[in-house]
Amino acid sequence: MNNDTHNNQSDIARRGIMLVLSSPSGAGKSTIARELLAKETALELSVSITTRKRRGSEIDGTHYHFISERDFKRMRDAGTLLEWAEVHGNFYGTPTDPVEEALNDGKDMLFDIDWQGALQLMEKARIDVVSIFILPPSMAELKARLERRAEDEPETIAKRLKNALNEIPHWREYDYVVINQDLEQALSEVTAILKAERLRKDRRPGLFDFVEGLVG
Ligand code: ADP
Ligand code: 5GP
Repeated sequence: MNNDTHNNQSDIARRGIMLVLSSPSGAGKSTIARELLAKETALELSVSITTRKRRGSEIDGTHYHFISERDFKRMRDAGTLLEWAEVHGNFYGTPTDPVEEALNDGKDMLFDIDWQGALQLMEKARIDVVSIFILPPSMAELKARLERRAEDEPETIAKRLKNALNEIPHWREYDYVVINQDLEQALSEVTAILKAERLRKDRRPGLFDFVEGLVG
């Protein structure tokens, strides 16, 4: 490539991606999300609001905004959420404003949300959404990971395992499926998907100028 103004691919204007990761609880989606965010500086996490109790390892405002059910319903009813769902008996939702700000700044946004939320985003912004469903290698390993995480009560773990059977069949609604057996492998697959999706021509309006400069 020999062009003075666009000698670097990343200089070419591009639409932001809404990268959606979903999985049954315990399959490793938060771990993959965390590692991905550490590597990808142009990727920002959409911090959801939730009525779930904070886990010991979680920081309010970083992992979630932990709020009351009353406040959740107030925000939802005021139309401030891009999507929301009830999952495992708690409410979760994505505030719209930070997403719009990040995308307007040319950033990509990462969403750790369930299949109900993923479907809502795909309905609202299909061309901007890239969705990945993370599967565990086996149900025994899923149970082992939930237990090893040791952050939920045994009844909560049992409920999440039962719910996994209703969540897993939604894999077909996603663009990609990654089986998280080996973490490094799963992470490199998700990274490859993000890299390829960033290069799609439909997401790069700057290519018009680039090609014009190239030929004319
Ligand atoms: P989720 O966000 O999908 O509920 P987490 O990311 O919290 O799941 O992962 C659940 C547990 O499994 C954590 O203890 C995490 O360290 C572990 N884990 C994640 N990926 C792997 C993997 N590939 N192999 C073994 N353990 C894993
Ligand atoms: P956890 O309680 O384990 O953090 O999350 C439980 C489930 O809720 C996970 O599947 C997670 O992806 C999903 N979730 C987290 N935030 C949101 C959100 O804002 N919207 C929706 N629809 N699901 C969410």
